[in-house]
Amino acid sequence: MILFKKATDIHKYIDSQQKNGSSVGFIPTMGALHQGHISLVEMSKMSNQFTVCSLFVNPTQFNDPKDFEKYPVTLEKDIAMLEAVGCDALFLPAVTDMYPEAGTNNQALKGLLTTKHYELGYLEEILEGKFRPGHFQGVCMIMQRLLEIILPDNLYLGQKDYQQCMVIRKLIDLIGLENSIKVTICPTLRETDGLAMSSRNMRLNMKERKTATSIYQCLELIRDNLQSESLSVLKMKAGILLNAEGFKIDYFEIVDANTLSKISDTEFAGQSGKKKMVALVAAFLNEVRLIDNMILN
Ligand code: AMP
Repeated sequence: MILFKKATDIHKYIDSQQKNGSSVGFIPTMGALHQGHISLVEMSKMSNQFTVCSLFVNPTQFNDPKDFEKYPVTLEKDIAMLEAVGCDALFLPAVTDMYPEAGTNNQALKGLLTTKHYELGYLEEILEGKFRPGHFQGVCMIMQRLLEIILPDNLYLGQKDYQQCMVIRKLIDLIGLENSIKVTICPTLRETDGLAMSSRNMRLNMKERKTATSIYQCLELIRDNLQSESLSVLKMKAGILLNAEGFKIDYFEIVDANTLSKISDTEFAGQSGKKKMVALVAAFLNEVRLIDNMILN
């Protein structure tokens, strides 16, 4: 695996690969890799001659500075995992390379978000957008830079970050790359007890780790009882269950899987459940915020 630290170097290298006829698959990550990330690399390797992964803990997408400080870093292990799966290149930029206009000044870095606004509309007003103000602006800022450096043929994203996938699709349209980059959304990899793999799981202690599986159980409860109960009753049951386990819920919603708009009980009954729906949840277990989702039908 070739390691690149400078944007200009990887840009040139990828460009030469594409000129030689290789299609390039790209997996952006924030590191602390697990099998979920690796499954995206495997997916890319199946359809591309060249697979590149990036590892960058993006400061502009953390609305909570504590979350940024505590984000796990396991660089040596990450490199070993990428080598083992046969990833061709890793882009490992420094903050000053991705945000040269801010240099090493933290205040200037924060200020960057006020310099450009991505029109995400409704997508940014709900769920993650509502509970993590500025988060998706930061995601768009880094993704635009990464996509313009790599200019991949294929981009691999995880369904685990359902709303983020929609935001990045929208970004690709906004920056006019919709005809050159094909987005593939890959299924969420889970631990054997159902907990969605996540870098943040490393921060859970043993007791919290056991409890964390309730999120998956709630999503299953909703999926399995969709025909017999109303959406509001299902949401209420899931909420009671998570609260009883000690979670602090940001949101637990059942929405239209294509638009993320809310579905009322009457609308659901009227359509006899034909609409494609997704249940999305974000909840804190003490300090650690976990998110998950499940397509219901
Ligand atoms: P992150 O490092 O958390 O920014 O994630 C990098 C990419 O891996 C994103 O596209 C995520 O959606 C994806 N990802 C994270 N967790 C999983 C998982 N459990 N299964 C599949 N993909 C995942």
